[in-house]
Amino acid sequence: MPFPYCGRFAPSPTGPLHFGSLIAALGSCLDARQQGGAWLLRMEDVDTSRNVPGAADDILRTLAAFGFEWDGPVLYQSQRLAAYGAALEQLKQAGLAYGCACSRKEIADSATHAAIDGGLAYPGTCRKGLPDGRAARAWRLRVDNGEIAFIDRLQGRVVQHLEDDVGDFVLRRADGLFAYQLAVVVDDAWQGITDVVRGADLLASTPRQIALQRSLGYSEPVYAHLPVAANPAGEKLSKQTLAQALRVDQASAELVAALRFLGQAVPGE
Ligand code: GLU
Repeated sequence: MPFPYCGRFAPSPTGPLHFGSLIAALGSCLDARQQGGAWLLRMEDVDTSRNVPGAADDILRTLAAFGFEWDGPVLYQSQRLAAYGAALEQLKQAGLAYGCACSRKEIADSATHAAIDGGLAYPGTCRKGLPDGRAARAWRLRVDNGEIAFIDRLQGRVVQHLEDDVGDFVLRRADGLFAYQLAVVVDDAWQGITDVVRGADLLASTPRQIALQRSLGYSEPVYAHLPVAANPAGEKLSKQTLAQALRVDQASAELVAALRFLGQAVPGE
């Protein structure tokens, strides 16, 4: 019988795990186990331009050293390109994905406002077709300005109007790589994920993922976005802010700190 609950941890092998990753791993794992569910591991190595050689194996070794036990084999996004291609094809056939010729500079020159998570909201230049003589560089999802709303288990009600807040967003990039938003949605559906527990740095992406789930006819997981750990300067722990790698020889201390963080950050349900 399939598990009623299926959760996952989905690191990107762009470097070693840090304390912020441990929070997401621990939060998703504890939630899955507490609900008698499965907990899967997915290596999000679709963005080959950011992968660091050896990082995927290092992440698996670190998780194992910290006592994590995931169910089934690890899913590697680099092995899933055919599935992403098929999903994109489905969206093209439905008239929901369209080719876009715009360069970064053209978007910068024509955008009218910022997107909700930084960058610029795509102004829809290629929506009605490619300009004469121009070829598609990227593929985008056609969105509308209807409300996309969901109830996050920790953050409450979240609402976006995608056309204003983000614009038609990229599914396949100009360099040919499939975008994170498409890959994550295709894989969450394929792996039967019922519950996504991850850092709140991804909260602004969730309405895009829900729009894609609806466009592809997938069911929608339940979401819980955990508070994001910060360094003493108040910056989110990430590779960009040079977060320290988890210390395997200090696994107990790191785990105690992560449990404390979760205990303070997550109210009892
Ligand atoms: N791979 C993403 C990251 O490491 C997480 C994606 C997700 O949990 O949906 O930030």
